[in-house]
Amino acid sequence: MIDIKKIREDFPILKREVNGKPLVYFDNAATSQTPQQVIDVIVDYYSNYNANIHRGVHTLSQEATDVYEQARKKIQEHFNAAKSHEIIFTSGTTHSINLVANGFSAILKKGDEIIVSALEHHSNIVPWQMLCERTGAILKVIPMNLDGELLMNQYHSLLSTKTKLVFTNHVSNALGTVNPIEEIIASAHKVGAAVLIDGAQAAPHIKADMQALNVDFYTVSGHKVCGPTGTGMLYGKEEWLNKLPPYQGGGEMIAEVTFEETTYAELPHKFEAGTPNICGGIAFGAALDYMNAIDFNAIAAYEHELLQYATQQLLAIEGLKIYGTAKNKTSVISFNIEGLHPYDIGSILDKLGIAVRTGHHCAQPIMDFFKIPGTVRASFSFYNTKEEIDSLVEAVKRAKAMLL
Ligand SMILES: *Cc1c(COP(=O)(O)O)cnc(C)c1O
Repeated sequence: MIDIKKIREDFPILKREVNGKPLVYFDNAATSQTPQQVIDVIVDYYSNYNANIHRGVHTLSQEATDVYEQARKKIQEHFNAAKSHEIIFTSGTTHSINLVANGFSAILKKGDEIIVSALEHHSNIVPWQMLCERTGAILKVIPMNLDGELLMNQYHSLLSTKTKLVFTNHVSNALGTVNPIEEIIASAHKVGAAVLIDGAQAAPHIKADMQALNVDFYTVSGHKVCGPTGTGMLYGKEEWLNKLPPYQGGGEMIAEVTFEETTYAELPHKFEAGTPNICGGIAFGAALDYMNAIDFNAIAAYEHELLQYATQQLLAIEGLKIYGTAKNKTSVISFNIEGLHPYDIGSILDKLGIAVRTGHHCAQPIMDFFKIPGTVRASFSFYNTKEEIDSLVEAVKRAKAMLL
């Protein structure tokens, strides 16, 4: 059981008002809020040991380097990676995916195939399209059913020895579907393909185990797990990270530079050119500490309760349709009301202090599949309450009465 009252005390932003109403923050799938414990870590960094890392002999630089590397270890332990240098600090999932896609442009050949799911975020589609353009590789798509679940039979028939890479998200940000990544990974490996899992939307709800999954690449954004924006990680198996060329050139990522030749630094530095978001990386580690102190199983159980409650209450509204009805889903509800545009509903909800997302959620192909321009998306976190869901339901009813 989680102590919701105590948890809410940790989040200063939850005390504010919006348009004269108490804030109800239901846009957690876009970014999570930050607890005081993480804010304190950020303030402490800039107040006490702000310095550039890995290069200075002076005390502040040593301290910053130590704490930054401790954060890498925390992330390694959280995701149960075998080695800490398999954790690359990035600015987020988008950066992580582009790093891998860029690396594979040196590996793929014309006619090679890469498979992507129909449930992807644009950041897990566009880099692969760019990769195909550069290499002549072919993009294949795993289709989905009306519940928003991938058609696994079709996936199996797409796989062949031509398949070099498979990419899917762990959890869909638009619909909340939890994909059967264990099966996706094992089947891809049978034909010798590598697998990248976009874990941006899973990380706030599910503690993924890199070694048990035997996944090749896994990406996370710090700002969706109570950390700051501009932080994230790429997990990569050592053998893959050694095979890929560096993404960006610059300081930090070299062993030796002359005008004739440059040799690259060891992992993880090979992929960490330039001065990183030092404070951000440290705060990302602190955010995982915060969530682990609450306990991921308790978080998942409570969020599931919120999901079930909200689903029931919202479905009681006539004309309301929920998109994404997979058996296995996280606390995301995408919906529309017949005859109304999602944007208009979202605007009225905002007037009532309720923050939701409206639009295509960076997943236009999913909206095209359902033949809709977008949805209203309410996404719940462990710091939300049933009372807030009641406010949402009342507000949706009000919006409907005003607009129809
Ligand atoms: C948020 C999200 C992304 C993009 O993450 P950034 O932090 O914006 O780089 C990618 N995929 C999924 C599933 C997401 O939810």
